Amino acid sequence: MLIVYQEAFFVGFILAVGGNFRSFGFLFFEKKTQRVSLMIYNTSSLMMYMILMGPAILLGMLAHFWVQSAYNKMSQVPAGTSGHDAARRILDANGLYDIPIEPSPGVMSDHYDPTAKVVRLSQDVYYGHSMSAVGIAAHEVGHAIQDARGYAPLVVRNIAVPVANFGGSLASIVVSLGAFLMIGGMFKFASWALLLGVIGFAAVVVFQLVNLPVEFNASSRAKDQLLVHGIVSNSELPYVSTVLTAAAMTYVAGTFSSIMSLVYYAMQYAMVSDREN
Ligand SMILES: [Zn+2]
Repeated sequence: MLIVYQEAFFVGFILAVGGNFRSFGFLFFEKKTQRVSLMIYNTSSLMMYMILMGPAILLGMLAHFWVQSAYNKMSQVPAGTSGHDAARRILDANGLYDIPIEPSPGVMSDHYDPTAKVVRLSQDVYYGHSMSAVGIAAHEVGHAIQDARGYAPLVVRNIAVPVANFGGSLASIVVSLGAFLMIGGMFKFASWALLLGVIGFAAVVVFQLVNLPVEFNASSRAKDQLLVHGIVSNSELPYVSTVLTAAAMTYVAGTFSSIMSLVYYAMQYAMVSDREN
């Protein structure tokens, strides 16, 4: 995976819930999951949410625009080969003849699938002859090389993926449930729900922390391989770095955002369990 960015569109708002009108909800449409989700706040927790999540959301947006602009700019800088050919050359040079490269639908859908042992490249990267294309292709091959060499952080990451996915889904459900329970005044159940949510978000944070060195390492392998096999020259390398550094920033921003969510829900949990006693 090179680009993971959870975009959510704010689609509607405010249902005054609870008699006191101090709680309200926001409806979001999440592009990634294609689902509408509801977040409920009361005025004091919304303030806390803004303070904790505001900088994280801002950083996420900045990273998103940065990677878009770097990708677009470096798509204009020509490379001697297509993303596919660069990937094939690096794979073969590392003895990974049996790892296929497939075009994949969607923009920035590039990833290495460790289960199927396939490198999948988006159309623009697969067919494109640009610094963006060869850089991203080489990055995904970097993951294939990590896999073939038994690179330890990747092994840990692959184990953590299902745990984090489950934890993340569970957390989103139980914290909404917790909010409803709070509005209904059932603080004991709300605190249990929030505790489950905190554990779920913690699993996501652990995954993202393990993922960071995996991503940085794949990019540094990519640059080495592109140079060694003469796909880019020393003077072209900064162009590739521009794209890969911007992409890495989306991971850093995502990790920061997850940590802040974890802090937010841990504080919510502390507040609710305090109220319960
Ligand atoms: Zn990656």
